Amino acid sequence: MVIMASRSTAFRFLTSVVLLFFLAGCGAPLSEHWSGYRLGQGAEPSTAADSPAAAKPPAPAAPDCRKVKCVALTFDDGPGTYTEALLKLLDEHNAKATFFLIGKNVEKHPGIARDEVAAGHEIGNHTYSHQDLTELSLAAGQRELRKTEEAIKKATGAAPTLVRPPYGVIPKGLKKSLDVPVALWSVDTLDWKTRDTKKTTKAAEKIVPGSIVLMHDIHKSTLEAMPKILADLGAQGYHFVTVSQLVGNPKPGIAYGTGRHPGGKG
Ligand SMILES: [Zn+2]
Repeated sequence: MVIMASRSTAFRFLTSVVLLFFLAGCGAPLSEHWSGYRLGQGAEPSTAADSPAAAKPPAPAAPDCRKVKCVALTFDDGPGTYTEALLKLLDEHNAKATFFLIGKNVEKHPGIARDEVAAGHEIGNHTYSHQDLTELSLAAGQRELRKTEEAIKKATGAAPTLVRPPYGVIPKGLKKSLDVPVALWSVDTLDWKTRDTKKTTKAAEKIVPGSIVLMHDIHKSTLEAMPKILADLGAQGYHFVTVSQLVGNPKPGIAYGTGRHPGGKG
């Protein structure tokens, strides 16, 4: 009888927990559109918590982006030649960023991906071979993402917490099948197009509190623009946070940021 009673209590407790999670989920504004986003107090990205580096003392809590100026700097297409130098710069400015990694580059540079996670940056999936997902079948698109997730897990011990499709485009069916949110951007520095340090720095002047900024750590001009961008934003009182910290607990099924390019495909 005693066993029965405690089982029943445990069952009731479990039911309440499940119900609470369900209700919390219902509160999320699920949208089919590229949505704007509200700012939040971000939890640390789960990549940091799950990583082999988790044995280190916990990082300080993320700032409350509803109360202080935050910006999410994001870097696509790596890991690459300039990534380690960028990690050093970010560290000097106590800056967290988000890296959207290409699977085949992770296989080439697993140690750099591991360093990104160890430094507390967030990792997103940017497909295996950087193809336009709208030109692939659903199965081929899923394979691109799955192969990348496996490469990232193998290299870092952690799974990517976001997806950013190449060129900012993803078929609706594929987006629906994802178990992580889609992160686009709100400011495109066009660094991929201009490959010009001064123009990249100038474009970063469009950053406002809450911006998700698109950049690429595979270009030398971007790396060379970073000292001034970090110094200028730092002087304006910005906190450099990951995408998940910026929006606080992003939800699968939602795309954060508009993903617009000021002219052209990128
Ligand atoms: Zn890209």
